[in-house]
Amino acid sequence: METLVYASAAAEAAPDLKDILAVSRRNNARNGLTGLLLFAEGNFIQALEGPGEALKATYERILKDPRHKLIIELYRAPIERRNFPDWSMGARTIEGADIPGGAFKLTRASLEEIHSHDRGEEVFTLLKSFYRVSYPDDMAS
Ligand code: FAD
Repeated sequence: METLVYASAAAEAAPDLKDILAVSRRNNARNGLTGLLLFAEGNFIQALEGPGEALKATYERILKDPRHKLIIELYRAPIERRNFPDWSMGARTIEGADIPGGAFKLTRASLEEIHSHDRGEEVFTLLKSFYRVSYPDDMAS
């Protein structure tokens, strides 16, 4: 299995997250993928994990999606076990752009800095802690 984390900028100020999530959860459940999608201040950050071929095919569709742009791949690595096993695509809208734990702000500038300093592994660790402290609610399944 492999995992992948990317960040992107939403094409519209208020994207239809319900629609993105409904399609993502349906497809991911079918393709054996799990993950987490955060939305804050107009940016997405998504962690996806699962069998390499399914991950590749899904990411190729995501890259072509006009609902977001300026996609930066932050982290990609093989994994032995899932980090988000309960979520076909967990999701949160982060208010005020602070991810609990406070390690970075989810802004374009901070994400580009992470990218340029090759700190993707830190982002991944942060998302894993976020998952551990978050209880699935009606946006996470
Ligand atoms: P369909 O079943 O035909 O689904 C297409 C659906 O996507 C339609 O219902 C439509 O509502 C919607 N759609 C497509 N393009 C547009 C558009 N331009 N404007 C509005 N609505 C549109 N897909 C996954 O499978 N897994 C994921 O984890 C995932 N994460 C995503 C994260 C983000 C931030 C974004 C923007 C998209 C994500 N997607 C994900 C969606 C992906 O980009 C494809 O749209 C989707 O995978 C296509 O699914 P399908 O081939 O089953 O097509």
